[in-house]
Amino acid sequence: MKSIYFFGNGKADGSAADKNLLGGKGANLAEMTRLGIPVPPGFTISTDVCSYYMESDNYPDKLKLQVATTLEKVEKIMSQKFGDVNNPLLLSVRSGARKSMPGMMETVLNVGLTIKTIPGLIEKSGDEQFVYDAYRRLITMFADVVMEKAAGIEPAEGESIREKLDKIMEVEKKKNRTKTNSELSVNSLKQLCQKFKVEIKSSIGKDFPDDPHIQLWESITAVFKSWNGKRAISYRNIENIPHQWGTAVNVQAMVFGNMGDSCATGVAFTRNPSTGENNIYGEWLPNAQGEDVVAGLRTPNPINNLNSNNNSKRIISLKDHMPEIYNELDGIQDQLEKHYKDMQDIEFTIQSGYLWMLQTRTGKRNGFASVRMAIEMLEEKLIDEKTALQRVKPEQLDEIMHPMLDAEAEKKSKLFAKGLPAGPGGASGQIVFTSNDAEMWHKTGKQVILVRNETSPEDVHGMFASKAILTARGGMTSHAALVARGWGKCCVVGCADLQISAQDKTLSTNGTVLHEGDWLTLNGSSGCVYEGTIPLKEVDLNANIHFQKLMKIADRFRKLGVRTNADSPKDAQTALKFGAEGIGLCRTEHMFFDPERISAMRELIIAKDKNNRRKAIMKLLPHQRKDFYGILKAMAPHPVTIRLLDPPLHEFLPQEKNQISKLANKLHVSIKELNTRIKNLHETNPMLGHRGCRLGISYPEITEMQARAIFEATAQLVMEEKSPLPEVMVPLVVTVMEFKHQKEIIDNMAETVKKETGVTFEYLVGTMIELPRACATADQIAKEAEFFSFGTNDLTQTTYGFSRDDIGGFLPEYLDHKIIPVDPFQSIDQEGVGSLVIMGVKKGRVVNSKLKIGICGEHGGDPSSIHFFHKTGLDYVSCSPFRVPIAKLAAAQAILID
Ligand code: ADP
Ligand code: MG
Ligand code: MG
Repeated sequence: MKSIYFFGNGKADGSAADKNLLGGKGANLAEMTRLGIPVPPGFTISTDVCSYYMESDNYPDKLKLQVATTLEKVEKIMSQKFGDVNNPLLLSVRSGARKSMPGMMETVLNVGLTIKTIPGLIEKSGDEQFVYDAYRRLITMFADVVMEKAAGIEPAEGESIREKLDKIMEVEKKKNRTKTNSELSVNSLKQLCQKFKVEIKSSIGKDFPDDPHIQLWESITAVFKSWNGKRAISYRNIENIPHQWGTAVNVQAMVFGNMGDSCATGVAFTRNPSTGENNIYGEWLPNAQGEDVVAGLRTPNPINNLNSNNNSKRIISLKDHMPEIYNELDGIQDQLEKHYKDMQDIEFTIQSGYLWMLQTRTGKRNGFASVRMAIEMLEEKLIDEKTALQRVKPEQLDEIMHPMLDAEAEKKSKLFAKGLPAGPGGASGQIVFTSNDAEMWHKTGKQVILVRNETSPEDVHGMFASKAILTARGGMTSHAALVARGWGKCCVVGCADLQISAQDKTLSTNGTVLHEGDWLTLNGSSGCVYEGTIPLKEVDLNANIHFQKLMKIADRFRKLGVRTNADSPKDAQTALKFGAEGIGLCRTEHMFFDPERISAMRELIIAKDKNNRRKAIMKLLPHQRKDFYGILKAMAPHPVTIRLLDPPLHEFLPQEKNQISKLANKLHVSIKELNTRIKNLHETNPMLGHRGCRLGISYPEITEMQARAIFEATAQLVMEEKSPLPEVMVPLVVTVMEFKHQKEIIDNMAETVKKETGVTFEYLVGTMIELPRACATADQIAKEAEFFSFGTNDLTQTTYGFSRDDIGGFLPEYLDHKIIPVDPFQSIDQEGVGSLVIMGVKKGRVVNSKLKIGICGEHGGDPSSIHFFHKTGLDYVSCSPFRVPIAKLAAAQAILID
């Protein structure tokens, strides 16, 4: 097997097509090299070698030899030799998986610096300070990545070797009164390196190796091992990246951004990742190595004046500082974007006036930006419609609909601090200072904001648990910003005026001190931070033209209809605004709970005979008629599926003593009698009890009343020249006999109302399919029903035998142990519950080709479930109003992957 892929001087063994084997970074380094872009030469050791190493704890036989011969090629191009005393080549050893896992994996820079090679490099570069700066970086990274992490040492919080070395450096900086690392003198740096080595020896018990080949091979091994590092595993779990993929290792000639003021390093996006604007957006630092920008150790400078902000206006841009290099970079970014046909996230380093590209990958972006980029790239003819549709993850639309801070309330609030706007929308939360606290507080149901000087990959779990993230340091491409943007999470970074003490758990600025648990509000779109809470406000989607255009395209592509679940005219209107094509589920039980109505309902339940029952329920008629009138009117001419009363009867009964005595009084029965009645109605398993159409069968008056209300409202609307389309839905049917029984009542009532009003109208009668038996006998039911609507919540509950209300007790363990892959109430279980849906559809359509089939239930707004429903041939899905755009996009994407 070929294990090593060379790249350099315009030629490369691999290409962008080899991501599985070379990882994203390696494949793109090869591709850039082929494109003639200046990339330092090097080679990639394939992911196959990683798998081999994981299995056998050893390398393939010839690997060492192959590395040695390929290294010679690199040496030739660079006119330097690895380990050479006079003219040493230095290497970077970089990880790179198939899918980018920003900052999760390890990199070691400046490999090859030893006591023997240091003088040679000083001689060659004429810059002693640079060499010792590179050396202290190598020692730090090597100790951290190789000697500690790869060795499996798990230090206590604050006790890691990196933190210890950083502390030593802080002391040295204070002593020398320097602010930045690059200002340290040669002597300080030399002493620092010495102190580092002593600390490493005493902490880890081993010497920092002074042999270039040992440094190289131990770094390679450490990178492979970093695939199974704790934080890498936790990231893959969150992002659903398979653990067996493995990483590649890239060994590459070093170029130096830290060799003085004509040197620099930076990162850039070919378009603005927060707004989508088509402008190169980036950050750079003079006299630094790449990690400085990403780690957020110094807040970097803007690349051009387009993206400078209040914080950075006083700092010089790359465009002003090195105009020629900037132009070259601008040309390369343009070439890369046209080549990859997508926004790129690039790393570059400038060594003595010469530009080198070190990485390109598809850039992460937030929801706003992804929609804008998709539409603009389509309009630029860079991509076609299908590609544009696939560029936006349905879930990202959620961000566009994210609440923002109420602008009026925000104006009146006092600014606490200001940083960079790194993640969309607004959020309030209680502040915590460590990721573990964030996770713990979140678990107890608290809404938290994680406050850190900067975040590192070790914080990922805490960031995930937080509503929002606030950092004092770092720029728009810092770790915190990158991760937050990927998740569409509200985030403010680089709030330079904040003093954060994780130890004392305090956050202060200008004399105001906040403590753990205090409330803070962030505006992630402007970077403003406020004390206390500020109300949130919905956004105006109509103003977002890119979103509207994307939805139009999705509408043209998709086959699946998208309806909404709505119980009130107001919800119906919201859903219409989002583009709903009808109501797939209108629950009527919510309409019973206001004080006047519930007392009529209670009378009905308590009533001893049919007559009294009818009298009681008829009190509800005018209310229900008004409800249905409003909803049918709002939706006309779109259909409205109205489900007849569904919940267990006892939910309507009073529970508290004084409520009971009041009711007894009102109904002229004794408290004792009422209590007995309540006791009789008690059910051990209400979810499997007296509910659904079972109610309508025991109490046909309820069905009669509801049908009358629906049809009278319909007749009224027809008289007003509207075109209402009610679909009456019978819930929880297990046998066709139940359905027939109810349908007869409904049809009779329709005839009665038609006669009484002299108006004719259209309506359908159908059923929910939400029990396994209904799926199995769908052919019988479909002979009678005009539509099916799969109630996948109850169907999941009854197929698994998992109580929806009690699953919290064991679901976490089930997910942790991978007994089930996802919560089946969130994403449909295709092989189990799904096969019942398929059976129901097939059996139903065989006997009734006109049968309309939909799904209502949580799954109607879940993209992967939507793909399944599309494949199964359903006519529509129904979901909550805010998920309508998500469902539409997912339905369009389902066509493309079909
Ligand atoms: P990550 O995957 O975390 O981005 P990288 O492998 O890209 O890790 O490396 C981390 C930093 O080191 C980056 O900023 C990168 O630009 C820099 N770097 C990597 N290789 C080299 C090199 N050959 N010369 C100079 N800088 C490098
Ligand atoms: Mg990188
Ligand atoms: Mg149900």
